[in-house]
Amino acid sequence: MNQIMKTKTRGNLVVISGPSGAGKGTIIDELLKINHQIHLSISMTSRPIRGKEQNGKEYYFVTREEFEQKIQENEFLEYAEYSGNYYGTPRGKINEYLNEGKDVILEIEIQGALKIKEKIPEALFIFIMPPSMEELKRRLKNRKTETEEKMLIRFQRAYEEINEVTKYNYVILNDDLEESVSKVNAILLAERCRVDRIEEMYVNSKEEAIHEALMANKEFVNQPKEY
Ligand code: ADP
Ligand code: 5GP
Repeated sequence: MNQIMKTKTRGNLVVISGPSGAGKGTIIDELLKINHQIHLSISMTSRPIRGKEQNGKEYYFVTREEFEQKIQENEFLEYAEYSGNYYGTPRGKINEYLNEGKDVILEIEIQGALKIKEKIPEALFIFIMPPSMEELKRRLKNRKTETEEKMLIRFQRAYEEINEVTKYNYVILNDDLEESVSKVNAILLAERCRVDRIEEMYVNSKEEAIHEALMANKEFVNQPKEY
């Protein structure tokens, strides 16, 4: 069967934020299993490694001095301080992945997200909202990755972050995990179909002849594809 069009679409830069414990990491892990057009950017941080984290997997872990050196060298697309540590997105190969048609996900906090919005307004901004403050505290506690003191700092910040939700394009209330993952996936798939995001489109010239043949109720003899 002839195909009526061929398109070339650049990937989307997708920023995902939300208070600590809302479920960003969990949603992204599940998304990566079902959507293979995604590249997850690995950030750099000066915070200490926690639990089972591995250097180069969850983050590139560096010292404050090394991070500051990289700021001087303009190696970050954005960076911010959060909870007393630096976090930043290395420029790396983001553009190459986008040019290959992959969506690139940045899981970053709000100051960084706003910097990206200034630099790259066409990026997509998705906010992950916890179902309630009680549930957020419960999730943070159950995760057992922070000391009580560090957990409280994150929890304190949660309300300020929630107030920034209107700066995002989409908000996902992360109650049922499976539903949240399918909503984020639906957003990514829908954005890929947007006509204003298509870079190049070729309409098959044979389709006009097929249309005319079909209108006249004649059989169309198939030809090799030409674009
Ligand atoms: P974030 O990356 O936003 O800091 P995490 O993905 O680490 O949050 O999730 C925090 C905790 O909440 C984890 O223990 C995770 O298993 C749990 N969690 C995430 N999403 C849900 C959900 N929809 N329902 C119940 N628990 C969840
Ligand atoms: P955590 O210490 O829980 O891994 O991350 C703390 C916060 O830093 C989270 O809100 C996370 O989204 C954010 N974060 C992770 N990487 C980056 C980054 O590269 N830049 C910015 N601005 N924030 C980041």
